[in-house]
Amino acid sequence: MSINDLRSFLKLLEERGELVRVKRSVSNKFELSSVARRSEIEDGPALLFENVKGYSMPVVTGLLSKIDRIALGIGVEKGQILQKITKAVDSPIKPKIADEGPVKDAVVLENIDLIKMFPIPIHAEKDGGPFISAGVIIGKDPETGRRNLSYNRMHVKGPTKLGIHNDPWRHLGEFYKKAEVKGKPLEIAICIGLDPAIELAAAARVPYDEFELAGAMKGMPIELVKCETVDIEVPKNTEIVIEGKLPPTIREPEGPFAEYTGYYGMADSQQIVEVTAVTHREKPIYRTIVGASMEHVILGNVVSREPVLYKFVKHAVPEVKAVHIQPYSAGYHAIISMKKENEGMAKQAIFAALTSHINIKHVVVVDEDVDIFDPKDVFWAIATRVQGDKDVMIVPGAYGPDLDRTTEEGVTAKIGIDATAPLDRKEDFTRVKHWKIDEINLKDYNI
Ligand code: MN
Repeated sequence: MSINDLRSFLKLLEERGELVRVKRSVSNKFELSSVARRSEIEDGPALLFENVKGYSMPVVTGLLSKIDRIALGIGVEKGQILQKITKAVDSPIKPKIADEGPVKDAVVLENIDLIKMFPIPIHAEKDGGPFISAGVIIGKDPETGRRNLSYNRMHVKGPTKLGIHNDPWRHLGEFYKKAEVKGKPLEIAICIGLDPAIELAAAARVPYDEFELAGAMKGMPIELVKCETVDIEVPKNTEIVIEGKLPPTIREPEGPFAEYTGYYGMADSQQIVEVTAVTHREKPIYRTIVGASMEHVILGNVVSREPVLYKFVKHAVPEVKAVHIQPYSAGYHAIISMKKENEGMAKQAIFAALTSHINIKHVVVVDEDVDIFDPKDVFWAIATRVQGDKDVMIVPGAYGPDLDRTTEEGVTAKIGIDATAPLDRKEDFTRVKHWKIDEINLKDYNI
């Protein structure tokens, strides 16, 4: 079955037992997010809440919180996700414009009230209010017209007013600066409820329109339709689109919000969005990402960065076997496995990994007999193949994310751990492998 929007993805997930409909009535204030997070902690399914108190619209979350579901979303086996995205990054496919689409089933230009219209959750107890967390923001470079997709947390502050966290170093932040210098607003469209390929592509940092990356992942152009009140195009099958403008010079407090670090991202002076129109499909489904959840980290820090990490390390050390950014370590830990052929290779890989993104703070390099996706195996390697005085290197005063509270204004120490065994003592470091361990089936022993 092919996926071309959120609905077709939900159908596939449901067929595979990866999505469960929740009939019980839940509040979108804390409860919905807590139930979803509990499901994530227990390795449970994605959830479609059909009865949100006070609303007729369902809310879905957890779609991309697990590798299995990401693989289903882009039609590959679990082990092929990184390869698929890496390949797509190098072969973008431009989107095309369609005349119409279901996103125009309803066009609302007057009496807009986001809180009344949509069951936008308040995710965590100290959040500043309801936040749109799974909205993909589409903007254009005011000078070149280049389109960009990004996630920005958006604090709902009034019927037609949002706060938007828009870091100046990100593409949308650059666009805003260019518009503001000219005294002009920046037009945007917020897309909620999308094809998983678009949700994944929007998380990546590429120097071109992320719709082209999504198209490459699907092997066909993404079809877009024009917005009503802004000069922006949106996927024609989007569940909900909120159109609006970021006025120049205005700044207001925004946040706090439960962030990917597992701490609250504090209130800060940020730009705002003035909403100008809403369009949506018939019986739209509201999509959310729970703040400080695994899905939050996976989208923001893992799937989006592993392809670049792999490229950097592969360039420096062709003997690399696999790379992984641990979602349960806030995306700050990178694990690399390699077939070491020279004693210096592990440190070479550490240098490359540390420069691939500012958020990569700690790097562990292991031999290819260690499963980098299994933290137990990685810790075993650190325990049995590391001597602290020789195998740990610390780089002080490097560039890190300011959301990491241990940094001083974005200046951080970085650590590399070489947990590979010495080449000249192969015999001493050969792992015990129990007899036919991979073939033993406990059912054959009635266990
Ligand atoms: Mn971008």
